[in-house]
Amino acid sequence: MNAPAVTPRTPFLDLQALHTELAEELDEAALRVLHSERVLLGPELESFEQDWAGAVGAGAAVGVGNGLDALALGLRALGVGPGDEVVVPSHTFVATWLGVLHVGAVPVPVDVSPVTGGWEPDAVESAVGERTRVLLPVHLYGHPVDLDPLLDIARRHGLAVLDDAAQAHGARYRDRPVGGLTDLTAWSFYPGKNLGAIGDGGALTTSDPQLAERLRSLRNYGSTQKYVHDEIGWNSRLDELQAALLSVKLRRLAEHNARRRDVAARYDMALDGTELVRPLAPAWGTSVWHLYVVRTPHRDALREHLTASGIETGIHYPVPPHRQPAFAGTSLADAHLPAADLLAREVLSLPMGPHLTEHQQERVVDAVRTFRP
Ligand SMILES: *Cc1c(COP(=O)(O)O)cnc(C)c1O
Repeated sequence: MNAPAVTPRTPFLDLQALHTELAEELDEAALRVLHSERVLLGPELESFEQDWAGAVGAGAAVGVGNGLDALALGLRALGVGPGDEVVVPSHTFVATWLGVLHVGAVPVPVDVSPVTGGWEPDAVESAVGERTRVLLPVHLYGHPVDLDPLLDIARRHGLAVLDDAAQAHGARYRDRPVGGLTDLTAWSFYPGKNLGAIGDGGALTTSDPQLAERLRSLRNYGSTQKYVHDEIGWNSRLDELQAALLSVKLRRLAEHNARRRDVAARYDMALDGTELVRPLAPAWGTSVWHLYVVRTPHRDALREHLTASGIETGIHYPVPPHRQPAFAGTSLADAHLPAADLLAREVLSLPMGPHLTEHQQERVVDAVRTFRP
């Protein structure tokens, strides 16, 4: 009897391989916390915050519960509240908009370029009005945003810049790391990010010591002295276990990002000559390739073809923020954002990660090349 042919599975992101590579150090870190007396706001967090601030060239890092909290706490620390407007991109993960809504402010979407998927400074500037307080660019897919024109707009209009770097750990803009270039940078350590916890986690980085202190209070019930509450804060803390695990992974971040760059370069070469539109890496910095996102009008058929070949893919994102059911009936749903709609129909994320082998990648490329729409 013949054994049935088994289609090998090509994972979208191989977290198992990452954790196997680091198993000894992760085990040691987890046990160290388990047998310690502090599990919240202790030495592991302090040490990770120092290392993370150093890695991104910021004066301070403040660990929080997740990336969405980082956005909301960051906006709150900048003084944003009801009646204020925050300029956001049309094409992003919905959390970027939710952070604004959770402080009672209004996200004002600016459509991205249908070609690059990035922001055009002129379009951003024309969205600035009397109530605008903050520009909130997103380093989507690991590609650094062109920050200088935005910082210039912000300076001329008296605005703050908070950048969403949830997909950009280690990215560089004009040879400086993302994370210390704006008023505040928000990070997520969701497990699938380039630097991920084994659970939820997030942080903010800043070089403004007053903002850092305000954030330390806001994440801890608005309190710096036990049982004294200066303002209405949150409970959103990065716990000792996640901080210890993140410290282990941080030591390998640069190496893992370099491996992602190699994967991206191999895709770029191998997919040349196919009908797919390959991702545009920005000229002004170094991407960390959180995702490798191609575009095609035959996206759904290609995805089915890859799935049938055992290849896992993703769509980032199939429903743009302004089309979310949560916003139905609000002014957000009326926004005219054709580029966001187009991207939602055409983008496809291919397997990407430091542990994607050349052999697995060849399978992806072969499957793409045998696709006929
Ligand atoms: C993941 C992500 C977030 C939210 O982070 P969580 O930790 O999942 O809350 C925010 N913005 C972007 C762009 C993200 O990719």
